[in-house]
Amino acid sequence: MSWHDSGANRETTRGMPLQSKGSFMIATKESHTGGCQCGAVRFRVTELGRPSFCHCRMCQKAFGATGGALVTAKAFTWTRGAPKYFQSSKAIKRGFCADCGTPLTFEYEGGIDIAIPTFDKAGEIAPVIQLSPEAALPWAAGISSLPGYPAEERERREAWMQSIQSNQHPDHDTDVWPAKVWPSKS
Ligand SMILES: [Zn+2]
Ligand SMILES: [Zn+2]
Repeated sequence: MSWHDSGANRETTRGMPLQSKGSFMIATKESHTGGCQCGAVRFRVTELGRPSFCHCRMCQKAFGATGGALVTAKAFTWTRGAPKYFQSSKAIKRGFCADCGTPLTFEYEGGIDIAIPTFDKAGEIAPVIQLSPEAALPWAAGISSLPGYPAEERERREAWMQSIQSNQHPDHDTDVWPAKVWPSKS
C-alpha cells in the first residue's frame, strides 16, 4: 500500500494547522480555478492546504508521470462537469476527466486533493514536501540537468508548435464550452 493510499498515514498530515510549519502557508481565501485539458471539467477552490509531491508507484501510474503534485482543497466546487473515478484502493478514489483523461483528484473520506498542474496558475502552488521519496524513479531527479534540443532542431520544433492548432482549454474560466481556442480556417 502506498503512502498516499494509506488512510491512516494520510490522517496524520490532514487537518494539520496550516501555519504550524514554516512554509505551509498557501491558506489564502482567494479563488483558485482550474480544470482538465479539454475543459469539460472545471473547478474552483477558495482555500488551499499543503502542496506536496508524491513519488509513490500509485501516483506514477495515476498521473502517467514521475509522480503526483497535489494540494489539499477546502471550500471546493466543480464549476463545470464532474470527474469519473477509479477506486485505487479501499480508502482512495482518483478522479479524472472521462473525455480527455486528465488526472484531477485524490479523494479520501472527508477530503480532496487536487492535481496542482491542473490549476490555471499551477506555477504559483509549489510543493513544500515530498512523499515516498524512496519510490522515486531513478532518473527523475536528473531531468532538470538533461540537455535541451540543439539550436537547429529547436527552431524546427518551434515552427511545428506554431502549426498544431491546440485543442487545449485556456487557463481561465470561459462562458462557453467548448471554448474556441484557435483561429477558424473557414
Ligand atoms: Zn477533459
Ligand atoms: Zn502517491
